[in-house]
Amino acid sequence: MNNVKDKVVVITGASSGIGEETVSLLSENGANLVLGARRLNRLEEIQKNIGNNICIQKTDVTNANEVNALIETAYNEFGRVDVLINNAGLMPQSFLEKNKQDEWNQMIDVNIKGVLYGIGAVLPYMREQKSGHIINLASVAGHVVFPGSAVYSGTKYAVRAITEGLRQEEAAVGSNIRTTILSPGAIDTELTDHISDKEMKKGIDEVYKDAIKPDAIARAINYAINEPEESSVNEFIIRPSSQNL
Ligand code: NDP
Repeated sequence: MNNVKDKVVVITGASSGIGEETVSLLSENGANLVLGARRLNRLEEIQKNIGNNICIQKTDVTNANEVNALIETAYNEFGRVDVLINNAGLMPQSFLEKNKQDEWNQMIDVNIKGVLYGIGAVLPYMREQKSGHIINLASVAGHVVFPGSAVYSGTKYAVRAITEGLRQEEAAVGSNIRTTILSPGAIDTELTDHISDKEMKKGIDEVYKDAIKPDAIARAINYAINEPEESSVNEFIIRPSSQNL
C-alpha cells in the first residue's frame, strides 16, 4: 500500500533537520513536494539533490501573505494540496528572569502564528476538495514544562490545542480533513544552535547527548500520510529510548 505516491505535500521549515529528512523520505515514496523556508540557497540544494516533483519557495511563516503564496504555488503547480506539514519552528529557550523578549516574540510568531497562518491558508482548498491532512510539529515540551522551557512549552501546548480544535471543527462538518500532532523528544538537528542563554544551552546539550536522528520523525509523518483516508492518526510522541523527561 502506498498512499503517499502522487500526494501533493507542502512543508514549511524544509531547509534543514526534520523538514529536510521528511522531504527526502516522502520524495522516495513518490510524493509531489512544495518546500518553504527562509534560506533559499538550502532549498535549492535540496531540490538539486532530490530532483523530480519538487518546487521551492522562499517563505517566512511569520508573514501570512508569504504563507498564502506558498499554498497558492502548490495549487498552481500541482492542482491540489493533500497535506500541509507545519514544521517550521524555533527553540531559543531561556529562563524567564533573563527577559529575552525578542526571543519570546520570535517563538510566538513562528511556532504559533506560523502554524495558524498555514491552517488559514490551506483550509479553503481542503474544504473545497473535501479531503486533506494537516500535520503540526509540537514537542515533548508541549506535554511537560521544565525550568527554561516556559515560553517554548507555551507555544507547543498552543500547537496541540489548536490542532485538537481543528480536528473537532473539521470532524463536526464532515470535511474529511485529517489532523496529526507530532511531538518529538531530542532530535539531532540545528534546533538547539539558536539558544543564546549559555546556562540553558549547557543543560540542553546534556539532554541532547542522546538525541536521535530526524529520520525517526520522517517515518512517523510518512506513516500518518500513508494510512487510508478513513483513518486519522491524531497524535505521536517520539523520544529517544533513553530520554527520561
Ligand atoms: P531545525 O532548526 O533544523 O529546522 C527548523 C526549520 O524551521 C528550518 O528549516 C528553518 O528554516 C525553519 N524556520 C525557522 N524560522 C522560520 C520562519 N520564520 N519561516 C520559515 N521557516 C522558518 O530544527 P528541527 O528540524 O528540529 O525543527 C523542526 C520542528 O520540530 C520545529 O517546529 C521544532 O520545534 C520541532 N521539534 C524539534 C525537536 C528537536 O529536538 N529537534 C524536538 C521537538 C520539536 P529557515 O531558517 O531556512 O527559515
